[in-house]
Amino acid sequence: MNMQKKIKLLIIGSGPAGYTAAIYAARANLNPVLFEGFYSGAAGGQLMTTTEVENYPGFPDGITGPDLVDRFKQQSIRFGTEVISEDIEQVDLKQHPFIAKGRKVTYETDAIIIATGATAKRLDIPGARDGEFWQKGVTACAVCDGAAPIFRNRPLFVVGGGDTAIEEALFLTKFGSRVYIVHRRDQLRASKIMQDRVINHPKIEILWDSVVSAIEGDTVVRQVVIENVKTKEQKSFEAGGLFFAIGHTPNTSFLENQIELYPTGYIKVFQGTATSVEGVFAAGDVQDHQYRQAITAAGSGCMAALEAEKWLAEKGFTL
Ligand SMILES: Cc1cc2nc3c(=O)[nH]c(=O)nc-3n(C[C@H](O)[C@H](O)[C@H](O)COP(=O)(O)OP(=O)(O)OC[C@H]3O[C@@H](n4cnc5c(N)ncnc54)[C@H](O)[C@@H]3O)c2cc1C
Repeated sequence: MNMQKKIKLLIIGSGPAGYTAAIYAARANLNPVLFEGFYSGAAGGQLMTTTEVENYPGFPDGITGPDLVDRFKQQSIRFGTEVISEDIEQVDLKQHPFIAKGRKVTYETDAIIIATGATAKRLDIPGARDGEFWQKGVTACAVCDGAAPIFRNRPLFVVGGGDTAIEEALFLTKFGSRVYIVHRRDQLRASKIMQDRVINHPKIEILWDSVVSAIEGDTVVRQVVIENVKTKEQKSFEAGGLFFAIGHTPNTSFLENQIELYPTGYIKVFQGTATSVEGVFAAGDVQDHQYRQAITAAGSGCMAALEAEKWLAEKGFTL
């Protein structure tokens, strides 16, 4: 039986944005309920797929992604957050209180913070899968992982042809011996100004009309096999790492027709974290296609909680 409960604030998502929002909201006595997700992706979010996080302030020796998320979770529970291990499968934001349905329980809630994050796109090629070289040289975030020792002074490969791929390649020139951009077409999608920065870069080479057909190694990546899509010729290159820069998919499919989204699926925010529906706030990567870092997600989670608290007080919503 699906039970129905009434609450003040529901938080959907369990990455840095969701847990930071929960810590602030719980300390403001809003008794938040947080859905951490189940089938929607790893509970705990993208940091669960990474090993060392070395750029989150407060951890001078680094911390593993799962440990950092566990600390967020324990801190939110300490102040009274209720964490539910389910997905929100459906929402009705056209009535107030809003309705949010999980598999076993439905909530009526005065305010909602959506912090469902985004999923980095990966290519399903031999060597890139979980249990193969994912996080052993294959990753989807140069800014996060590029400075790791395994990438230093090694040839690095970036897959993609848009602005993100260019930015990642430029960033990686600080660490790699050489950086190759692997692009399946004969011209980049990136803006002209970005293209000029890589085309003339002494450390960057663009492999046009090319795809990665396999990633090989032992305990870490050692080489990649590149195929020319026109000639079908295959060539092995020595490699220290491969970075996917082919975009992200925001986790917003359950919000269709409920709230304004960009054509790319990201949530539109207007002032701070306010969305097109009053009383619904969005934080973290689900509304940020630019920065996509744990600290920026946490920062906007804090903003969303403070804005939700203010909005609830102004509207006089008390239980
Ligand atoms: C490989 C990799 C390495 C990274 N390394 C770093 C790093 O070193 N430093 C750094 O700052 N950043 C790093 N990042 C980026 C960082 O992980 C993200 O910016 C951050 O996790 C975004 O946080 P978030 O809270 O917005 O969402 P996410 O972390 O994406 O979490 C959202 C979670 O919400 C849950 N969810 C989704 N849909 C639903 C639903 N319908 N109902 C309930 N729950 C749902 C899921 O569990 C989902 O995973 C890395 C990312 C990747 C992919």
